[in-house]
Amino acid sequence: MTLANLNFSAEVAAIMGRLGVPAASLSGGTLAVRSPINGEKIAAVAEISAADTKAAIEAAHKAFLEWRLVPAPKRGELIRLLGEELRAAKDDLGRLVSIEVGKITSEGLGEVQEMIDICDFAVGLSRQLYGLTIATERSEHRMMETWHPLGVTGIISAFNFPVAVWSWNSALALVCGNSTIWKPSEKTPLTAIATQAIFEKAVKRYVADGGKAPANLSTLLIGGRDIGEILVDNPKVPLISATGSTAMGRAVGPRVANRFGRSILELGGNNAAIVCPTADLDLTLRGVAFAAMGTAGQRCTSLRRLFVHESVYDTLVPRLIKAYGSVTIGNPLETGTLIGPLVDKGAFDRMQHALEAAKAAGGKVSGGDRVNAGEASDAYYVRPALVEMPSQTGPVIEETFAPILYVIKYKEFDDALALNNDVPQGLSSSIFTNDLREAEAFVSDRGSDCGIANVNIGPSGAEIGGAFGGEKETGGGRESGSDAWKAYMRRATNTINFGKTLPLAQGVKFDV
Ligand code: NAD
Repeated sequence: MTLANLNFSAEVAAIMGRLGVPAASLSGGTLAVRSPINGEKIAAVAEISAADTKAAIEAAHKAFLEWRLVPAPKRGELIRLLGEELRAAKDDLGRLVSIEVGKITSEGLGEVQEMIDICDFAVGLSRQLYGLTIATERSEHRMMETWHPLGVTGIISAFNFPVAVWSWNSALALVCGNSTIWKPSEKTPLTAIATQAIFEKAVKRYVADGGKAPANLSTLLIGGRDIGEILVDNPKVPLISATGSTAMGRAVGPRVANRFGRSILELGGNNAAIVCPTADLDLTLRGVAFAAMGTAGQRCTSLRRLFVHESVYDTLVPRLIKAYGSVTIGNPLETGTLIGPLVDKGAFDRMQHALEAAKAAGGKVSGGDRVNAGEASDAYYVRPALVEMPSQTGPVIEETFAPILYVIKYKEFDDALALNNDVPQGLSSSIFTNDLREAEAFVSDRGSDCGIANVNIGPSGAEIGGAFGGEKETGGGRESGSDAWKAYMRRATNTINFGKTLPLAQGVKFDV
């Protein structure tokens, strides 16, 4: 079937119905939703007003005041049920992600699997929100550190992981005793509405089982940047977790800081890989191909810069160019497709602009042209572009959210390492080598300056167990695993005197 003959409206309505979303909420609103697969308008959803947003923040704050009193392992029980509901909804929600964002089927399903994985992680975490007991210099005293719920957690998310980002934040925030309030991308309201409905199902079961969950524990705000700004400025939202472009973070970060709020910023990346003389080139080829072309280059961790040692350049790069020329592009729902569409015309225009700039800077471009335009004029499919560059210059130092891989030849390992770090962004990086010294140097103090540094796998994608995020213009935030939960709680240091005297610290005397 050609792209033009596809029709998603009825299927979307059926999926939403199964997930518990009333059909009426899919039409008559002011926000048009289009599938990047064929450009079809699949819904028109209602947007929230500024006044209702303010009221929703107040209601979320009230929910927090109650939820923080529920013991953490009991809060974990709600997230356990959410994980169960997500398992039941996986096929439907995964398919909806593919229709709304254009991801290939396995990646749509993979995104929902990430939601399930973080729920599992958070359930265990709900019994592990522990602090330290610290040695004190005063006799008959005890000093300890305790962790407490923080307040309403505001979540602002990007289009490319329309639901996983909510779950990374919400699963942790909720077991930590916070309520959450979510402003998804204006490009992906349907998956957000579906996710909220799945959450409500979990709450219903939790309450039916005797759990105490206040109303408005999780709130969804459908709207544009202006709605996000209201969240950002409201002191009743002590933590803003914002995922998106560096431009967005540059606006959000200072505004939150200005009111002494906290933020977790998860912003743009410009991720690199170094291919060393000893690299396993078959493995490297597969690692590079997935990291650079997967999700049509629309992952924050997508591989954008490749530094190839001169001794393997002429072996690896022609093989890569061949893979770029033969990879299957098209309807992401069809078996065998590896590259789906770009999200919209804006993304296509920015890609073409970057390719022009690369040519002007001496780049040799393979691919990058539009395909399937005759089948659906409002859908934007491109052949991924590989650009051999004489140096790291022009568009190479920027993030263009599209499948462009800049390839640069190097001689000395230290030069490649310096290039890896010599961009404003600091999200993800990797090295392909079988030389222990190079691998260890890459992950050492003098190595990659990114939040993620991998050996013999590409920079793209992440597992729930590790803390996720990056340095420099990527914003410095950490989400998901390890001890990322600490950002969602407030820490108190408590000193308790169980004796009958009052010794002061540092030997201070103050007898009255
Ligand atoms: P975007 O910056 O255009 O929008 C992201 C979200 O921020 C949207 O919900 C938008 O409405 C909101 N927003 C924008 N300006 C705002 C403001 N001033 N105040 C409040 N809210 C505001 O990003 P996008 O195009 O949806 O996503 C692509 C970008 O996201 C890429 O740069 C990508 O690297 C980045 N990203 C980063 C991560 C990460 O974890 N580091 C993950 C996914 C995507």
